[in-house]
Amino acid sequence: MSISENVTHYLKQIEGGNCFGEKVTLVAATKTRTAEEINEAIRAGITDIGENKVQEFRDKFDLITGGNRHFIGHLQTNKIKYLIGKTYLIQSLDRDELLTELAARSVRAGVTTDVLIEVNIGSELSKSGYPLREAFAAYERAQNTAGLRVRGFMAMLPLSGDEQLLGGLADEMRALYERAKAQDENIRHLSMGMSGDWQLCLAHGSNMIRLGTALFGAR
Ligand SMILES: *Cc1c(COP(=O)(O)O)cnc(C)c1O
Repeated sequence: MSISENVTHYLKQIEGGNCFGEKVTLVAATKTRTAEEINEAIRAGITDIGENKVQEFRDKFDLITGGNRHFIGHLQTNKIKYLIGKTYLIQSLDRDELLTELAARSVRAGVTTDVLIEVNIGSELSKSGYPLREAFAAYERAQNTAGLRVRGFMAMLPLSGDEQLLGGLADEMRALYERAKAQDENIRHLSMGMSGDWQLCLAHGSNMIRLGTALFGAR
């Protein structure tokens, strides 16, 4: 199937919302894709796109026509300057060093940067993100820091065939999201779900999924 057929298909799939009937945002994960491929997806109805690497974010920035620009990859502090004022949402606020530096640079530029707190929900050594037990405190710290506005949480579930395990982890993320949302109207995104696990994530309360392979084919 073509990119535009895939986009139509997946937009239709999420039309009914998540398990709570909340609207679901589909973010196209665009790493390694050309600007032409991304523009085809946007023409087909994609409203939000997410890059993993600062270099790709910059190279394609002016070639892409529209779309809310998310950053979803690991962000080195020395590259923050290239993103300031250009992102719709940085989904990967994964450590205190980044929190401090992103806030300081945002203030200096006179902007407020919208972010998600990334949680390493599977406690995996290979993944970034705050441990679950530190995530709420990180959210509060970021929300009380000038230059940042937290809009929710992001997580990547581990690779596993154990749906009960994955469902349990997704539920923990939803509980974290609910806890913050109960006291803070800025909180509105729970970004969880990729090509292999988006259905499970929507069944456990995610309201933002990030699809790469499903939309563009294998990398
Ligand atoms: C690549 C990537 C995705 C999409 O992965 P697919 O399995 O290709 O759908 C989602 N989120 C992040 C952070 C990614 O790096």
